[in-house]
Formats: sequence, C-alpha cells, structure tokens
Amino acid sequence: MSDEMKWIAERTKTFDSSGIRKVFDLASKMENPINLSIGQPDFDVPQPVKDACIEAIQNGKNGYALTQGMPVLRDKLQAEVDAEYGHDDRSLFVCSGTSGGLFLTMLSLINPGDEVIIFDPYFVMYDSLVKLVGGKPVVLNTYPSFQIDPDQVAAAITPKTKLILLNSPANPTGVVASEEAMKALADLAAKHGIALLSDEIYRRFCYDDSFVSPAKFNPDTIVIDGFSKSHAMTGWRLGMVHGPQAIIDTMLKLQQYTFVCAPQPAQWAGAAAMDFDVQPYVDSYSDKRDMLIDGIQDLYDVTVPGGAFYVFPKSPRGSGTEFVTRAIENNLLIIPGGIFSQHDTHFRISYAADDATIQKGIEVLRALALNH
Ligand code: PMP
Repeated sequence: MSDEMKWIAERTKTFDSSGIRKVFDLASKMENPINLSIGQPDFDVPQPVKDACIEAIQNGKNGYALTQGMPVLRDKLQAEVDAEYGHDDRSLFVCSGTSGGLFLTMLSLINPGDEVIIFDPYFVMYDSLVKLVGGKPVVLNTYPSFQIDPDQVAAAITPKTKLILLNSPANPTGVVASEEAMKALADLAAKHGIALLSDEIYRRFCYDDSFVSPAKFNPDTIVIDGFSKSHAMTGWRLGMVHGPQAIIDTMLKLQQYTFVCAPQPAQWAGAAAMDFDVQPYVDSYSDKRDMLIDGIQDLYDVTVPGGAFYVFPKSPRGSGTEFVTRAIENNLLIIPGGIFSQHDTHFRISYAADDATIQKGIEVLRALALNH
C-alpha cells in the first residue's frame, strides 16, 4: 500500500460514492440528454433575492457572519418559527445548507455504536453521514407505499436507538408522510426518549395536503430546512436548524470550529427571499407532477407523490440499474433507485424541468415500457 493510502482515515472507508459516480460518468458521455435527473429547481433564483445579495456585497457585508447567523435573517426566521410552534425552548441558527445542518446534528448527537433509524429509500447522505460519525444506520423498508409505519418503527427501537431521521416530502419518492404517521412517530420518540430529526427541505413543495411537521406534536423535534429548493439557492449554501436550546448550542460550538458560518451575502439575500412568494413555482410544480403521472401511470407501477419534485416508479423489467442503462441508451437521464436504497428495483425521475423536456421524457418512458 502506498503511503498516501495508509494516511486515509478508517471512517472514510465505511461508505463509498461509486454508484452516483457511475451515473455521472454515463451522463457525461450523453450529448444533449433529456435530463430528468436534477435535484434542484429548474427556475432561477428570484430577481429580488439576487438584488439583495448584490447589494449586500456592494455594501461590504462580506466578512464573517455571526456563528448563529446575521440578525437580519436569524431574527426573522426565529420569529417565523416562534409564530408557527410557540414552543418555549426552540432556538434557531443559520447553517451552511441543509447538509451542513445534517452533519452538525450527527456530530452533536451520535456516539459510536448509536443506532439511527432511517427510512428506505432515503436521501443519499443519510446512511453515509450516520456511518461517518460511527453510528449504525437501522434501515426500515417502506416499499411499496413509501409511507412511514409507526409499528415498524416501534419494533425497530432498541436500547441503542438514539435518533429517528425522517424526510417529508421525501427525496427520492416525493411521498408526504400523513399527519397520523407524523403524530405517531412524534409520540413514539417522546415515549422512548429518542431524538427526532425532521429534514423539511421540501416542505414548501406540498401539492395535495398542507405540510405537517412532527415538531407540532413533539416540541423536542430538531428541524432542518433551507433555501436550496424553495428559492433555487442550492449554490448559496443557506440553511437553518431549530430545536431545543441545549442541542442548538452544541451545534453552534461545532459550527464555530468547522463551517464557521453560512456565507454572509447569502444571509442578506435569505432575508429578502423570505418576503418573496414562491407559491406560483409550487403551483407550476404541482402541474408538472400531474403531467408526468398522467403520462406514465397506465404503464408503470408508481405511487402518486404528494410533494417534492420526484417520482419513484418500479422498473417494468429488470433491476433499476438495468432500466436506467436502457433509458440512457435512449437519451433519457434518470437515476437508479439503488443509489437511495438497499433495493435496486426502482428509479427516480425529477420533474424539475421545463414542460417540453418532461414531455420528451414521457415519450421515452412509454416506449421503454411498451417495447419488450
Ligand atoms: N435533504 C434532502 C432530502 C435533499 O434532497 C437535499 C438536496 N438534494 C438536501 C437535504 C441538501 O440540501 P442543501 O443544498 O440545503 O444542503
């Protein structure tokens, strides 16, 4: 083994990213693909948000931000959260994207050997982040409905269970957890003294029912949210975490010595973003969801999703990877479900694309299902 390999820490070897790399390798060879693989909105950052960022930069708001976030954004977010929940002990800080908040939560809560319950399929980072901090992911299968089953969760709880991590609306399925499931999960966590982390990055993208957070039922719930999806600000690295003060203080201590702060100009822009109404975008995504579902549901086994911008159908023949390989041969870029799951049976379509692209994708998907 070369010296360089010997230097690499064991914790980095507990997971790999070869699956997603393979998809990117395949994609890089495609010329002008019908791209339904993207995990970010197809609209641009709204103009008033861009203007606020440029103004902040011009006005010299370029230094380190306060660790907990600039008051212009933090106070506004805290007021919004207080108005929504009215909890005595709910403190908020601004982090470097939802991903930054996820990482700080894991670092703050998980000791080596602690078990973390996650739901399969799951957002790609979950399983890896748990392993990175020495935790053990306990992966609960939610196929085929992708709904959370509180009884299944109750049966998976052991003395080592530290955290339940949920994501609704979900990536990659688009499924929104029912209010009953959220309440049951919140009560279960409270009853067993287990931490509950709710990744709510897609909360604005709910099409059928209004969003319900488990924090409504369990005041100790830790909530992560951000501007990446709601305002298409994925590259600006702006998110937030709110939860019990003692946990937030611990995360701030860690943020101080890791991320330091979320980018200051982005925080001024975030304050402007809070005044921008994204509902027209959400409405257009609801139409796109309908267009895609109407276009494929007679030929595919697919759960109609209530949110986010993903659909997660079953491969009509062969594994998810085999199906996606065929799709790519037909110039359609989608993601095999195995990237998000222990099962390679499904595939993820993102409808964060213009209508013409979605229509072309539907045509290819129909042809693939019909041509044996
Ligand atoms: N959580 C989920 C469920 C996501 O889908 C994503 C982005 N794909 C993130 C977190 C990370 O978002 P951010 O850009 O805020 O780090």
